Amino acid sequence: LGFSTAQRAAQVEAETRALAVPTPARARAWLRTLTEEPHVAGTPADHKTALFVRDKLQEWGWDASIVEYEVLLNYPENLRLPDGDVSGTSLELVRPDRQKLPVLESFVKNDKDSVSGKAFPAFHGYGASGTANAQVVYANYARPEDFDSLERMGIDVRGKIVLARYGELFRGLKVRNAQKRGAVGILIYSDPADDGYAKGDVYPGGPFRPGSAIQRGSVQFLSLGPGDPSTPNGPSIKGAKRLPIDPVNGFPLNNHFVSGSFASDKARHAGDAWEKETGLVRDDYFASIPALPISYDAARPILEALAGDNVPSGWQGGLPFAYHVGPGPAEVRFSTTMHYELRPIWNVIAKLKGEVEPDRWVMVGNHRDAWVYGAVDPGSGSAATLEMCRALGTAVKNGWKPRRTIVYASWDAEEYGLVGSTEWAEEHEKTLDEKAVLMLNVDSAVAGTELDVDGVPSLRDLLLDSADAVTDVRTGRSLRKTWVEHRRARWISQVPVDLPALEAEKDSPRDSSVAPRFSPQMDPLGSGSDYTAFVDHLGIPAVDVGFSGRYGVYHSIYDNFHWMETQGDPEFLTHTMAARLYTVFVMRAAAARVVPLTFTPYAEALGEHLDDLRRMVERKARASSADPSKPPFPFKGVAELSQSIARFADQAKSLDRQAAATAADEDATAERLTRLNDALSRVERAFLLKDGLPDRPWFKHAVYAPGLTTGYASWPLPGVRQAIATSNAEMLAAQVSALVERIDAATAAMKDAESAAKP
Ligand code: GLU
Ligand code: ZN
Ligand code: ZN
Repeated sequence: LGFSTAQRAAQVEAETRALAVPTPARARAWLRTLTEEPHVAGTPADHKTALFVRDKLQEWGWDASIVEYEVLLNYPENLRLPDGDVSGTSLELVRPDRQKLPVLESFVKNDKDSVSGKAFPAFHGYGASGTANAQVVYANYARPEDFDSLERMGIDVRGKIVLARYGELFRGLKVRNAQKRGAVGILIYSDPADDGYAKGDVYPGGPFRPGSAIQRGSVQFLSLGPGDPSTPNGPSIKGAKRLPIDPVNGFPLNNHFVSGSFASDKARHAGDAWEKETGLVRDDYFASIPALPISYDAARPILEALAGDNVPSGWQGGLPFAYHVGPGPAEVRFSTTMHYELRPIWNVIAKLKGEVEPDRWVMVGNHRDAWVYGAVDPGSGSAATLEMCRALGTAVKNGWKPRRTIVYASWDAEEYGLVGSTEWAEEHEKTLDEKAVLMLNVDSAVAGTELDVDGVPSLRDLLLDSADAVTDVRTGRSLRKTWVEHRRARWISQVPVDLPALEAEKDSPRDSSVAPRFSPQMDPLGSGSDYTAFVDHLGIPAVDVGFSGRYGVYHSIYDNFHWMETQGDPEFLTHTMAARLYTVFVMRAAAARVVPLTFTPYAEALGEHLDDLRRMVERKARASSADPSKPPFPFKGVAELSQSIARFADQAKSLDRQAAATAADEDATAERLTRLNDALSRVERAFLLKDGLPDRPWFKHAVYAPGLTTGYASWPLPGVRQAIATSNAEMLAAQVSALVERIDAATAAMKDAESAAKP
């Protein structure tokens, strides 16, 4: 893709040599070093990993340096007390029977890393300090619909502590939902049904979550956009202008709520000052109630003590008794204590200079900070991309010449809310807009053995091509084959089957004019990793690529080297395979004479996204026909949207054809190629909305955004989707025309590219 016949031979030879570079032994060695100590963002151990990565990259011929920012981060109080307690964090069942519950993880035999004293105790990134003492209500996943169900059961969470399980939506939104409904605190636990023994054997005997494991994680609300909450619209460089956030106490992020009210006037005033300066409502943006992540060992006695009704269907978890919703008689008291401060974080940014288009960047990003040791998240990604960096450095030493500059970023503070990548993207907004061609994001590279890709559709063909060049050592087949087969199986299980017309329908046959056709698509990007600023804020095409599977120790102390060696990837074969896949992908993206973006897959995806919305409206209409008090919500604008997509599809097809012809044309002049490449790189930018999405202006991409109610999972066509979800006709009209405008702009950009491609 994007190469001429003459160029291809040399490229294939260079790739073959580069693919032989990554080895299991090296990947293992990098992972060993990076997981030696817990390395939460901003800590000295984190700094050590930055130096290590920088030095390695320099050794392999990269121009690498450390880029520091100053960002607001919280650490929990962490003084170990004599009887095995930790200061500042506590959890206790007060009623019916008083009992202390664990907030630390247990030591596991043979795993030297599982000594809890080395890790932070349970806490949430950007969580508030506070104490709550109240009756408990079980709220399933704490989704809006879960609270609606509780309400229908006559259960009010006001003044209560919500006990919710992890899963389904980003944890920060669980806190937001509980807070909005008036809860005074929230405990979030890992249910064994979701990643514990109901999935398989638990660590150390298997890869799943053992009883004491705690999922840490950020609880930012995402509404301001990711990144340092004290600088939502600019980089956190030294001396940056910041919102009135008290860097010592963390106000107004950290309001020291005690049983539902501010512990001090100072905290309340800080909240007022923030609201005054931003014109926003603080509670829509930050946690104020205390939240604590807990294990299923700790959640069990609480759940067991709950009475009230049995839970609705779908709410029962994997503990061996019937769950009840409460409220009470279980009553819990818990405390969590945060220390907020502006702290340094360290991105490592490295470059391999391009020969022909040095001012065009192919980017690879991976975060380096971890909640504890982070062997999977993100160590496996760091180990695999470091092997890729070594392979690329070697290729250049052997005479391979990338046409474009390759930029590798080792991000910091991803775990708190994509902080390092977002601050860097905000600082270099103009440069990135001008230079960035595409990005490969790697977070957890090895959480299993099955290739897992999310991405914007214009990168689908490059991904397929690259996956074709890499053999799965376990099956001997190309990664592409297996991936496409899995996609097809999933598609078949989901596609509505056309039934033959019944006798009675013969006079008015159903419309079967559009036979469904399979075309493998990547999953759409939502959020939860560092591509977010690049795609959603800057309109840079990106893919997120890793291997997933049997992994249940996410964000716990057990996500460590011993887990990887005994459970995840004992022979480091998947690490090596991942490194090879990244290497080919980047080598092609950087060397192809024509930028390997294709837009026919984009047209297909747009069509599918529109169909999904139509189905959503259809479901809503059926639901409302059961309830005559709710008139159906009409989806006006379908015709304009599908016409706009049809125009896009036509243009995409002829551009893809023209781009391929230009790539194949050995006589294409340098000037013509550069012109085409620049124009191809601009197409994705055309999707950016000037004023962003409703209620979240930082998110500017008209086609892809994280779900407003899911946080992680993608909401394609987000503006229109939001209007439908909230039955807002006025918003719908505005969002349809904004979307049509952006799709048409992309069509125009493709047209420009097509003319640029012609001799
Ligand atoms: N990967 C991080 C998490 O899931 C991202 C946090 C965020 O998006 O704010 O916790
Ligand atoms: Zn991660
Ligand atoms: Zn993570």
